[in-house]
Amino acid sequence: MDSMSLASRSERGYICKRDGSLMYLVYESEKTVDNKLRVVISYKCPVCGLKLESESLEIRRDKNFLIVSRGFSRISI
Ligand SMILES: [Zn+2]
Repeated sequence: MDSMSLASRSERGYICKRDGSLMYLVYESEKTVDNKLRVVISYKCPVCGLKLESESLEIRRDKNFLIVSRGFSRISI
């Protein structure tokens, strides 16, 4: 599915094309099976619940370092 067709970018942020509502940013984190922390940044519409994943980060601990890798980006910010 093409996320760009469901939301449009405006000066205020992303607008849901279904109902014209301003979408808000959501941060969610989860542990992956290989013990990394995955943070997903997405936009959500408060009216219809449409959610667009924007970006994901994977964070893992390697001795004294935290390694952060950037994941996919379905919509450009
Ligand atoms: Zn909506």
